[in-house]
Amino acid sequence: MRGILLISLFSILLVSSPFASIDPRYHTYEEASAALDSLVDEFPGLCVKESLGVSEVDRRVIWGLKITSRTAENEDKPTVLFTGSIHAEEMIGTEIVLFAARSLLEDYGEDPAVTRYLDSLKVWIIPIVNPDGHKVVTDGLDEYFRKNKHDNNENGIFDFTPGDGGDTDGVDINRNFPYNWEFGNSDWDATTYRGPGAGSESETKAIMSICRRERFVTSVFYHSSAYGTYNEWVIYPWRWSGPVYSPDYETIQDIAYEFAERIVAHDGGGYNPRYSTSRTGNASDWQYSELGTVPFIVEVDTCLRPEGWRVNSVCENHLVGIKYLLERSLGPGLWIHTYNDSTGEPVHSVIRVLETYDEELLSPRTTDSTFGAHYRLLVPGDYTVAVYARHFAGDTISVHIGEFPVKLDIGLHYVGIEEEQSLPKTAPLEFFPNPFNSRVKIAYSLPWSEATLKIFNLYGVKIYEQKLPFSSGELSFEPQGVSSGVYICTVEGNSFFLSKRLLYIK
Ligand SMILES: [Zn+2]
Repeated sequence: MRGILLISLFSILLVSSPFASIDPRYHTYEEASAALDSLVDEFPGLCVKESLGVSEVDRRVIWGLKITSRTAENEDKPTVLFTGSIHAEEMIGTEIVLFAARSLLEDYGEDPAVTRYLDSLKVWIIPIVNPDGHKVVTDGLDEYFRKNKHDNNENGIFDFTPGDGGDTDGVDINRNFPYNWEFGNSDWDATTYRGPGAGSESETKAIMSICRRERFVTSVFYHSSAYGTYNEWVIYPWRWSGPVYSPDYETIQDIAYEFAERIVAHDGGGYNPRYSTSRTGNASDWQYSELGTVPFIVEVDTCLRPEGWRVNSVCENHLVGIKYLLERSLGPGLWIHTYNDSTGEPVHSVIRVLETYDEELLSPRTTDSTFGAHYRLLVPGDYTVAVYARHFAGDTISVHIGEFPVKLDIGLHYVGIEEEQSLPKTAPLEFFPNPFNSRVKIAYSLPWSEATLKIFNLYGVKIYEQKLPFSSGELSFEPQGVSSGVYICTVEGNSFFLSKRLLYIK
């Protein structure tokens, strides 16, 4: 990420000093690929290297490594993802994930915790998400290059300007994902150029494809703080203006704080957990909205690239955070399998946890079609799980989650097309109608006895507030003297937030 205020100062400094070459401690693309080959040779039963796709211009393979015991079987496990170098010049992430991969593999069978992680989880690493940009940096063409090499002006030449920014070509892959892409930067020259279309870049497509297949429960995209603005931050989704919170905010924030605290920062304390406020087509928000992954952006260290002699200690510090996320992935949450109760076959179904449900902002959470499995992290508490599958009778189950995952094997009864069931109608917050013209009925069904309902305009100005004394009920809202448009309705209880969009058309 970029610090606006510091960029111009930094550019002046660059003009007066020649570029230092990249420290050889950092892997080139070829060296990173060879490092994965070495791991596969040394630990053949524990990891598999896979091509996930190719880069947009030079068609370099984007390599991933899957690390888990008994790699050919037991694919039905919670899965986690760690990636580096989606931003080309922020190369420390490549080192962190390669270092972690080797450490986990060497400790398997020696360290009981690591053995349990690899027996119970699949761990994916993608050392270089952006191979073309990474090569621009390691070849010494432009040590401050961030984007891929997309030929924006279609002149057949790679147009770039050494130093910070001003590169005519290239797309910022971390602004190219199809969630809030429309709010991104449309200037070619910008370091944050969003690309010609949502999900247009082949690097983006490669990441989306592996995410859809593996359905990661949590993920980290490692970045560099680069210009000091985001030094040692752990960024999680989200608190947009409104305010609009991510529907799983309570769980995500809880994990973010625990994760950040374990990564040693320069001052000897932990990293700084921060909610994201931007809406710009990044990989993490897409993963969360589309697949339910609890995603983190980690802004490593206080500079663009730690000196070579510091790289190992930075990697050691981040390995502690990685191990926390592996431990947490086996902690409180739901491990659901849905199957046909007469044949035992897995059933692809929609899973709603009604306390966190918001279909305005998120795609439906589903079980996969191979195993009928859905893995999801949640903070301990009481939840209502609604299950729905085409041609099957729906089911609603109350669960209490403590310090371990709750395993639910749910047999669904086939009812055929004629008797197809509708979705459970007990979502915590419903509007009738929406959009509305003069009056909207707000129905609520909440797991706490007291809550406050507020309605804000998009500038964050509150136009309505109402205490909700009962656990369910309904009220009528009739706006006076406000204009047509989108409004945000929030319900705040003791422990978490719900938010949902309302559209008022006069
Ligand atoms: Zn970055």
